[in-house]
Amino acid sequence: MTGTTATTRPQALQAVRGMNDVLPAETPLWEFFEDTTRDVFRRYGYRNLRTPVVEPTPLFVRAIGEVTDVVEKEMYTFSDRLSGESLTLRPEATAGIVRASIEHSLIHERPLRVWTSGPMFRHERPQKGRYRQFHQFDVEALGFAGPDVDAEQMVMLARLWRELGVADGIRLEINSIGDAAERKAHRAALIGHFEASVGLLDDDSKRRLHTNPLRILDSKNPSLRDVIERAPKLVDRLSGETRAHFEGVQALLAEAGLAFTINPRLVRGLDYYNRTVFEFVTDRLGAQGTVAGGGRYDGLFGELGGRPTPACGFGMGVERMVLLLREARKEVSAAPLAYVVYAGERAGTLARRTAEELRSAGLAVVTNAGGGSFKAQMKRADASGAEFALIVGDDEAAAGTVAVKPLRADASQVGVPAAAIAAWLRERIGRTGDRDAGV
Ligand code: ATP
Ligand code: MG
Repeated sequence: MTGTTATTRPQALQAVRGMNDVLPAETPLWEFFEDTTRDVFRRYGYRNLRTPVVEPTPLFVRAIGEVTDVVEKEMYTFSDRLSGESLTLRPEATAGIVRASIEHSLIHERPLRVWTSGPMFRHERPQKGRYRQFHQFDVEALGFAGPDVDAEQMVMLARLWRELGVADGIRLEINSIGDAAERKAHRAALIGHFEASVGLLDDDSKRRLHTNPLRILDSKNPSLRDVIERAPKLVDRLSGETRAHFEGVQALLAEAGLAFTINPRLVRGLDYYNRTVFEFVTDRLGAQGTVAGGGRYDGLFGELGGRPTPACGFGMGVERMVLLLREARKEVSAAPLAYVVYAGERAGTLARRTAEELRSAGLAVVTNAGGGSFKAQMKRADASGAEFALIVGDDEAAAGTVAVKPLRADASQVGVPAAAIAAWLRERIGRTGDRDAGV
C-alpha cells in the first residue's frame, strides 16, 4: 500500500434494487407476524417443509405456464457455471413443494398439509408492497379433493387476520375457474369477445389473445377495465361437478360465518389453478391490495410427472402484511425487561450471575457491556427500552442485593435480595402485561 491511499476509503456498496434489508427496528413486527402465523398453521395440522431457493428453470415454466408475467418477464434465471443447466431463483413456492412431494413420495400413503416460508424473487418494478425479493408464507393441502380443505384454508386465514388484529381491513373474494373442458369453451368465447374489441387492447393483451386469453382478465392496466368487465364469465358456465364443488365451498364459508363476494374476474396470475380461486384483499395498501391468494391446482402433479393428485394452496406476502400491521398501528416491543448496570469486580460477578438466573427464568435481560460510568450506563439502560434497571454497586455486592429502578414508571428504587429478583420481576410483569414474551 502506498502512503497516500491510506486515507481514502473504498466506496460503500448498496443492496440490489428492490431487495430490502429488514432492520432491527422493523423485525419485531415481522417476528410477531411470523410467530402468530406459524402458530395458527400448527393448530390446523399444517407441518413445515423446506425446499431450496433455486430450482431447475423448467419446473417453473411447466408449473406457472409459458405465457404468464412471471415466466415471460419476472424470473431471475442463470446458467450453472459448470453444468450449464438453467436455474431459477424461485418466484413462488408451490412448484417446489409439488416437485419435492413427487421426488420423496410424500403423499404416497395419505394426504398431507404443509407450509413453507422464505424469500421469493420476481423482476418487477419496485414500489410500495412490490419488491424483487419478497417473502411469503405458503400453505398447501396435498392429496385433498375438497371442497372442505378449500374452505378450511380461507377460514384459517380469517382466524389469522383476527389474531393479528387486522380482520376489519381485509375482505375475501372467491371465484371458480372451472375444469379443463369448461376453460376450453370459455377460452373460445373470450377470444371472440376480445377479437371484437381488439382496438381497445394493449400490446400484452393482443399478444396473449390467442396464446392465453385468460391472462387478459388478470391485466392490471386500468384502460382495459371496461372490456374486461364485459367479457363472458366462466362462473356462469360451470356444470355438474365443478358447480357442486363451488357451491360446497360457499356453503362451508357460510357455515363458518365468513363473509365473501364472488368476483367473476378473479383468475390469478399463474396457469396451474383450476376450480376454486380466492384472494384476501385490502384497500389500505393502494394498488398492491392482495395480501394472500391461492386456489386449487388438481392438474399440477400430473404436469410435473407425478400421479394425478388433487391439491389446494395459497401464498401470503409478508411485506404487505407487515405494512398492514403498521397501518393498524400494531405496536410490538422488542425491548428487554431489564438492563443490568454495575461497577466493580465483585459487583460484576453478582450482576452477571443474576442476569443468567433471570434468563433461566425466561426473562429478557441485557447486561451492560463495555464499562462506563453509572451515569453513562443508566443512559444506555434508558435507551434499551427496558422496564427496569438492575443496579449492582459495591454496597449491593457486599449485601448480595440488587437495586431495582423502574425506568418507565414514577416509582422509587428498591433493594431486592439477588436470589429473589426473578420472582420479584415476574410479579411486576403480571401487572404490567406480557413483556417477557416480547409483545
Ligand atoms: P399481484 O397481483 O399483487 O402481483 P400475484 O397474484 O402476482 O400478486 P401471487 O403470485 O399469488 O401474487 O403471490 C401471493 C402473494 O405474494 C400476493 O398476494 C402478495 O401478497 C405477495 N406478492 C406477490 N408478488 C409480490 C412482490 N413482487 N412483492 C411483494 N409481495 C408480493
Ligand atoms: Mg404479480
